[in-house]
Amino acid sequence: MGAGNQATDGSPQNPSQDRPGQPRPGEADSSLGLGAGAKRVVLKISGEGFVRQGERGISMDAVLHLAQQTYRAAQHGVQIAIVIGGGNILRGAQFSAGNSCVHEATAHYMGMLATVMNGLAMQDAVESLGCNTRLMTAIRMDGVAEPYIRRRARRHLEKGRIIILASGTGSPFVTTDTAAAQRALELDADILLKATRVDGVFSDDPEKNPHAVLYGELSYDDVRRQNLRVMDHEAVTKCMEYDMPILVFNFRKPGNIERAVLGERVGTLIRKTGSQP
Ligand code: UDP
Repeated sequence: MGAGNQATDGSPQNPSQDRPGQPRPGEADSSLGLGAGAKRVVLKISGEGFVRQGERGISMDAVLHLAQQTYRAAQHGVQIAIVIGGGNILRGAQFSAGNSCVHEATAHYMGMLATVMNGLAMQDAVESLGCNTRLMTAIRMDGVAEPYIRRRARRHLEKGRIIILASGTGSPFVTTDTAAAQRALELDADILLKATRVDGVFSDDPEKNPHAVLYGELSYDDVRRQNLRVMDHEAVTKCMEYDMPILVFNFRKPGNIERAVLGERVGTLIRKTGSQP
């Protein structure tokens, strides 16, 4: 999450609660046209979800926390494809910056492999709860995971398996946000859920600006015009082109993944007709 939309969990303001005409967080909003009707979602979880705040690597406590929430959401019958990030281990652009002995493409491949490590951890955590999963990778690695094949992925979803999609798009120079947008489109998801450590999209950094407003809803154009870095630019553009709604919400708040999957109003919804408060 970039400038203009950060918040801490303990953000003193929760402007969404004061917006006239806007549902309160956690309140179902049938006007979304998603709500209980969402049959299939793509859930993007960044690497930061796999580790305790401020740390690096993988913490199985943190992974289990995500797994429990996802499992509960899946029990409502919603098909869930998780796209996994790798920033808790390595991000290609950061790793290669100022480092002349590694090609940036190599660093991006390293980043994609990091997402596979997270994917393996997530798979075991979800399965420890008794739920069937499939880990699928865009970069083939037989013996570790299935290759990502769109039709096979859909079949797993139809059979009620949670699918965990790792190694992004399989190509360097993009991020797992773009992979999430791509998968949401090709799997015909009803919505792309972007789980982050902040409450949604803000007008400004609320830690620096006490008047920063948490948006309940935005249009793709709002996001682009104000340069709100909700997801990477390419991901937002793809979603805009194909009218794929995006919900940005805070996964650290217990129950939020379940709420988001079930279509309750949490965080910031971005769609064609979105409007600022
Ligand atoms: N990556 C890539 N191609 C992809 C997806 C990811 O090259 O399709 C690399 C990229 O270097 C990225 C890293 O993998 O920085 C980890 O993914 P990301 O930064 O999206 O993780 P997150 O920030 O969501 O934890």
